[in-house]
Amino acid sequence: MAEQKGKILVIGGGISGMTTALEAAEVGYDVILVEKNPTLGGRVSRFYQYFPKLCPPLCGLEINLRRLKPNPYIHTLTSSEVESISGEAGKYTVTIKTNPTYVNEKCVACDKCTEVCPSEIPNEHNYGMDTNKAIYLPHKMAHPARYVIAREACPPSCSKCVDACEYDAIDLQMQVKTTEVEVASVVYATGWKPYDASKIDNLGFGKVPNVINNVMMERLAHGQGPTAGQILRPSDQKKVERFISTRIMYINHTS
Ligand SMILES: Cc1cc2nc3c(=O)[nH]c(=O)nc-3n(C[C@H](O)[C@H](O)[C@H](O)COP(=O)(O)OP(=O)(O)OC[C@H]3O[C@@H](n4cnc5c(N)ncnc54)[C@H](O)[C@@H]3O)c2cc1C
Repeated sequence: MAEQKGKILVIGGGISGMTTALEAAEVGYDVILVEKNPTLGGRVSRFYQYFPKLCPPLCGLEINLRRLKPNPYIHTLTSSEVESISGEAGKYTVTIKTNPTYVNEKCVACDKCTEVCPSEIPNEHNYGMDTNKAIYLPHKMAHPARYVIAREACPPSCSKCVDACEYDAIDLQMQVKTTEVEVASVVYATGWKPYDASKIDNLGFGKVPNVINNVMMERLAHGQGPTAGQILRPSDQKKVERFISTRIMYINHTS
């Protein structure tokens, strides 16, 4: 059946996209999994404990990654987005753009590059509550386990990371790559993003110190988060004595 039906394109490498790709590949479909970020896992990779088991979600992701890595039917493209889709059901032509990360597959995540990097950027994985160097591993469980460079944050003509890398893994000239593929079906699994709480004036998010949203709370509680699992006040890193909680909100990418 899989041979007759052709390839499947899955857009979004969060838990839904990974699961879709795995389930399809494990019954023999060829799958192309496209994720816009440099790593798979989506929002779940940032959570502290996951309902209903209340275990660290990284454990569930690891199980998925163990199934995904050796599966010859899944072709994963990270740092990639679909530029266009044309055709009809059963025969789509898809153009995929892969953005440069400036670090190639020779990277062994040894961290020598970050030691010499002079620039810092907000740590997006921790919702900006701490910083990363401009060359960084997105998070400890990142797949691929490969550093990326926020090129816009590099000082002009700096190449300290290139000199520090013993593996010839840094390519500051890396360019955008375009790939064209033919697929029979497309699955959108592009997920959700946190609601912009600053739009709710009375909560003071983004204006009043120490007002955080639910996804920031998940990172504060997380052992690999900005405070190594301690719930500290973002403004002065002191212990929280009292808190007021309000409702939880998130929106789907498509709504
Ligand atoms: C505070 C909070 C706590 C939660 N706790 C739990 C819990 O305990 N248990 C539970 O079961 N659920 C929980 N959830 C729900 C859970 O987060 C979602 O069910 C889950 O994230 C859905 O996964 P997803 O793959 O659909 O989406 P996402 O995790 O959002 O992943 C989508 C992926 O698609 C990528 N993407 C987006 N657009 C594109 C594009 N154009 N091209 C390529 N890639 C793209 C994104 O980068 C991302 O990697 C919680 C939600 C919140 C807000």
